[in-house]
Amino acid sequence: MVQPTPSPLSRLSKIGWIGLGAMGRPMALNLFTKTYLAHQRGERAGHGRETPTFLVCEEDNSRTESFLYDLREKGGAELAGRVERVASGREMALRASRILTMLPSTPQVETVYLDPKGGILAGLLELPPETPSVDTKSLFRTPSTPAADIEEISSSTTISPPPAPPNTTPPLDSSTTMSPTSTTTRPTLSDTSPHTLLIDQTTLDPTIARGIASHIHSATALRALMHDAPVSGGTGAAERGELTIMLGSPSPYAKEMATELLSRMARIGGVIDCGENGAGVGVKVCNNLILAINQIALSEGLALGRSLGLDPEILHNVINSSSGQSWSSRVNSPLQEIPDSPGSRHYSGGFQTRLMLKDAGLALSAAAVCDLPIPMTWAAKSVYDAVCNEGEGEMATQDFSVVFEWLKKKQLEAVERGWKDDPTST
Ligand code: NAD
Repeated sequence: MVQPTPSPLSRLSKIGWIGLGAMGRPMALNLFTKTYLAHQRGERAGHGRETPTFLVCEEDNSRTESFLYDLREKGGAELAGRVERVASGREMALRASRILTMLPSTPQVETVYLDPKGGILAGLLELPPETPSVDTKSLFRTPSTPAADIEEISSSTTISPPPAPPNTTPPLDSSTTMSPTSTTTRPTLSDTSPHTLLIDQTTLDPTIARGIASHIHSATALRALMHDAPVSGGTGAAERGELTIMLGSPSPYAKEMATELLSRMARIGGVIDCGENGAGVGVKVCNNLILAINQIALSEGLALGRSLGLDPEILHNVINSSSGQSWSSRVNSPLQEIPDSPGSRHYSGGFQTRLMLKDAGLALSAAAVCDLPIPMTWAAKSVYDAVCNEGEGEMATQDFSVVFEWLKKKQLEAVERGWKDDPTST
């Protein structure tokens, strides 16, 4: 393959996206169209004077094709003509100054960022020292980090950085230093001019997310600034550009630059500053732990109500005006009698059970690092595991409120088993 030659100036005007799945596709559609429109309106912030161009990277070719089709429909042929495909994170880093990723989970994020051959970090370490800054306030500053430092750091990089112990990653601000190795000069955010903004929107293990950010900051001597920005709201909110985004950032100024991009995918006021690196995804994992448990609690209550012969709509209404209410009971009811609920659309769309299983696992791993027992999450994960493995696995890709159907199925099976085991029932 011909190696791309990085063009320093056009790199500044390029935004890259990796992972065009259920969430990444609509999010990138909004980001690309709104960024392009903003430029046409004369808003130059963040991407210099050049018309922005876009790069995409996705393992599944059919997803890229359908993304390009949708982009043409939504933003017109001219915008679609400004999109190119790239093959790897490395190539993306050589060619784009702002890179966003939306991947399934921790292993994919580790590969896309840190793979020694094709990862984003590998590309970053090939950039020349004079690569222009994304920091519009310091566009004309000369980077202070010598290339030799970057090379020295790169030779010590590994694919799996040891996760930082909780609460030990120092927050970065203009007065804080990060040491890549004990032998190199310590750059600070005030004396480096970042050439790359990285934003990972995946829901992954918060400890690993913090470790990856710390590793990238060290290895690039703070010329690449990493963010975690997982989302809440599902595919509908992603289509409408109304997501809630939980942002973990290394510095106030990096946060400002990231927020400008993220707000194009979020509801008004929907980009929430959660703190330093790892805090965004930490908040997301805690939230989903609660959701995982709430949805099962709701299903158990509704299943018992059904067995007691209660009217499902009365039960639904009373729960939602009483202390049992939650987002699950208000918005995500499994009852087919409730309009616009997942139950009423046979659990199609929504948040897949396999993703909830993954998130419960992430909460358990995070809690294990902190030596915290979380028995309800453990129980919830066991339930989602069983739901995903039920039958041919069809419930794994349905909305996770399908746990209600799984409970009913288990009830029926238990009744049948009890009937067969009962010596009096011949
Ligand atoms: P998805 O599996 O539909 O999409 C992930 C995409 O990444 C796929 O298209 C896959 O081919 C691509 N990919 C994987 N490895 C790659 C690589 N090395 N290079 C390029 N592309 C690669 O998942 P999703 O539903 O879009 O979810 C993404 C993340 O968002 C997950 O962490 C999920 O937990 C979170 N999330 C999902 C929802 C939801 O409703 N689906 C809601 C909130 C958060």
